[in-house]
Amino acid sequence: MSTEYAVRPADVSVTDGGGPGEPAAAGEPREHVAAAVALARETQAWWAGIGFAGRRHLLDRWRQDIVEHLDELAAVVRQETGKPHGDAALEIGLAVEHLAWAARHAGRTLGRRRVGSTLLAAHLAATVEYLPFGVIGVIGPWNYPVFTPMGSIGYALAGGNAVVFKPSELTPRTGQWLVDSFERAVGRPVLLAVQGGPEVGDALCRSGVDKLGFTGSTRTAQKVMATCAETLTPVLLEGGGKDALIVDEDADVRAAAQAAVWGGLSNAGQTCIGVERVLAHEAVYDELVDAIREEASRLRAGTDDEADLGPITLPKQVAIIRGQVAEAVAAGARAVVGSPTSDEEAAEVSEHTPISDPARLIQPVVLVDTPTGARIQVEETFGPVITVDRVRDMDEAVAVANAVPYGLGGAVFSRRRGPEIARRVRSGMTSVNNVVGFAGLPALPFGGVGGSGFGRIHGEDGLREFCYAKSVARQRFTPPVSMTNFERRARVDGIFKTALTVLHGRRPWQA
Ligand code: NAD
Repeated sequence: MSTEYAVRPADVSVTDGGGPGEPAAAGEPREHVAAAVALARETQAWWAGIGFAGRRHLLDRWRQDIVEHLDELAAVVRQETGKPHGDAALEIGLAVEHLAWAARHAGRTLGRRRVGSTLLAAHLAATVEYLPFGVIGVIGPWNYPVFTPMGSIGYALAGGNAVVFKPSELTPRTGQWLVDSFERAVGRPVLLAVQGGPEVGDALCRSGVDKLGFTGSTRTAQKVMATCAETLTPVLLEGGGKDALIVDEDADVRAAAQAAVWGGLSNAGQTCIGVERVLAHEAVYDELVDAIREEASRLRAGTDDEADLGPITLPKQVAIIRGQVAEAVAAGARAVVGSPTSDEEAAEVSEHTPISDPARLIQPVVLVDTPTGARIQVEETFGPVITVDRVRDMDEAVAVANAVPYGLGGAVFSRRRGPEIARRVRSGMTSVNNVVGFAGLPALPFGGVGGSGFGRIHGEDGLREFCYAKSVARQRFTPPVSMTNFERRARVDGIFKTALTVLHGRRPWQA
């Protein structure tokens, strides 16, 4: 499809000459971001105009382009994050599933529908539909640089919005790849990238976008919300987590151990919905610790193709992870897998340490007997570390799970009481007898409560998140008694009061 637009998505990137992947150029991020938003606003009118069916067709083409080039994209993700190729392919596959769902369900979820009337408003016929905000700014993290931002991008596009996307400064080429792929499939700059760090994110918050979808740390979410408050720009905030996996006395212990190890250690623990804490009923605690030890001690972090875990992508996170583990061990925790001491002695890591340097690796750690109140119990660790704690019963498990500022995800393993315990965990999403299952179900809303943020991506809620409800009430006939004019007299007020009493007043047979 040809395009009349002179400015291409890549032209509004704030990367300086070196092309996508280079660090942000010194200069005027605000101007570059403003240019991208202006271009997006121009093309949004066309995108909204082609309707649900037109967008579905083009989003399907985009999905096919991603699938056809899956290995190429996975290689870029691997280069930038260090994660194993298979894990990169998995996150791309899940993102594609979501894109397909959003494209297919947007019309039914957002399209105009009739809304019932009431006796007092019988003269009105009403409809509601969900209209695109316009241009959505999306700020993404690096840990799942495809899956996470696509939860906002795909759903916002399906709703008829244009998107200006700022990928993490650690994964700019992945972000640019997605934009280039969209360009190949659609031929018009409806999705654009702006590259750079916090200053570019800040500029996007101030750029006049109609809504901002942010995914990243809770600390940055607070800054984003404060900045957006200045212009009353609505925000969706997907923050950090400290998810717990709860194991009841009747659980399949082997399955729970495998889930804890995968949920806690895959992607080297750099997963917002990763398992950071395991809370096990005392009746199965010892058996579970043995099973987790057996599973986790088989895994190895490395930069080679056979490694189970990749490196720590964010250089400064290495010291945070080591620090939390060392502090817990100094306060009495025991490592049943891993050796915190050797990590302590590992070489210093700076932002100049290449991702292929062994200093960026942390081998899996499983801690038991962590003292209550230790940082590792309440703060996000974001590394390949799991703590396993003993609880008396499921009441205590729920109380401990909920005693953190976060409320993102979690899991419950129980043969009889899974859903019941899950409902008591104060988090946006809980898996029962599996781990992170909710993330792969496109129909399920994804998001947190408390320090994990607010708003939802995925599912019908995710589609509505990027649109506003437009209500229309049309008068079908002149009502015999009208309450909304100045001609109203005491007789009409009396009729209204009688009608109210009949409809909503206490019945004679009610006490
Ligand atoms: P981060 O907060 O450091 O950065 C996230 C993004 O915000 C980056 O693109 C960054 O450039 C940008 N940014 C930084 N300062 C900004 C500012 N002042 N204004 C605007 N933008 C700014 O997070 P990260 O290290 O990239 O990602 C890891 C965090 O993300 C973890 O806490 C993880 O739990 C969280 N996360 C949450 C989800 C979720 O769905 N809830 C998903 C993935 C990651």
